[in-house]
Amino acid sequence: MSNQFPLSRTRTPVPDAERAAILAAPEFGRYFTDHMASAVWTPDREWHDRKIMPLQPFPLHPSAAVLHYAQEVFEGLKAYRHADGSVWLFRPELNARRFASSATRLALPELAGGDFLSSVEELVRADEQWVPGSAGEESLYIRPFMFASEAFLGLRPAKRVIYSVIASPVGPYFASGVRGVTLWVNSKYTRAAKGGTGTAKCGANYAASFAAQNEAQQHGCDQVLYLDRLGADGKGNLEESGTMNLCLVTSDRRLLTPPLGTILEGVTRATVLVLASEFGLTAEERPVSMDELRYGAAEGSITEVFATGTAAVITPIVGFRGNGYEFTIGNGAPGAWTLALRKHVLDIQYGLAEDTHGWLRRVI
Ligand SMILES: *Cc1c(COP(=O)(O)O)cnc(C)c1O
Repeated sequence: MSNQFPLSRTRTPVPDAERAAILAAPEFGRYFTDHMASAVWTPDREWHDRKIMPLQPFPLHPSAAVLHYAQEVFEGLKAYRHADGSVWLFRPELNARRFASSATRLALPELAGGDFLSSVEELVRADEQWVPGSAGEESLYIRPFMFASEAFLGLRPAKRVIYSVIASPVGPYFASGVRGVTLWVNSKYTRAAKGGTGTAKCGANYAASFAAQNEAQQHGCDQVLYLDRLGADGKGNLEESGTMNLCLVTSDRRLLTPPLGTILEGVTRATVLVLASEFGLTAEERPVSMDELRYGAAEGSITEVFATGTAAVITPIVGFRGNGYEFTIGNGAPGAWTLALRKHVLDIQYGLAEDTHGWLRRVI
């Protein structure tokens, strides 16, 4: 098979001993592999100059549109090493599709799904030695992204765009065992409005989220919860936690999750919706109000809450705090369904449970 993204190998790879030290204690997003993928788009040539090259900075003119108007989108997925040494991606076609729709929303050119998959797979092959072992939920985190690099301050979609993929080895998200987190029910910020960019995975959404995240931490919470409206009464429907989608489990075995529309369509969310029925939970995508959550938690009809996302897979949510109130879910410890679903997703990803849905894609 010919390479869609031809490799020019670095002559100065990170020395073996240094790489081994990094892989022994990786830190999310801190260390990067030896190579990167890239391609350039212009209106006349479309996508061209596809390559895998040594990791290096971009030469960027100070007027590059992304620096001023945030015309940028990204993706996040992982490569998992199985016990036999093989390396796999998990549902990367969904990331490719989401990347294309995020790009369309930001008036960036669409990258064909084949280019997305080739760039990711060929980068993983070039940097195979950077894929950690299979013990302890380690993986290679892969970050495809696209941005407006045209040197022009005018207000229109850029006519020069760069696509790139970088990769970073990551350790287990919960280094000392799965821990429940608390959410701050913020009444000051919304994440997205109908017709906005909530469904696009774009950097600008994150730039807007840090103030809310800071506020959550000032209130002693780990993460922020976004509702679909503002107001100190804390009423409104649940959206997501800003980096993760939300799921609730009820005492009568239903799995509730807010509907698509203004939230990000998570791959982990879609996966959990399928697995829920195999676990005997009836999945319902429908609006869930803060009142339903609060009173359901109090009377025991809502027994578990968790968040989903590629980085942590499934994060138990054990408590909520808002203006003048707080409450816990169940007994304040991660729930049994939450932990079982989490283990099953991981077991599929690491080849320990049968991949009955054909979700894994072999790279090496
Ligand atoms: C990426 C992301 C998620 C989780 O999506 P996964 O595909 O499951 O990783 C949830 N919310 C937001 C805002 C995101 O950017």
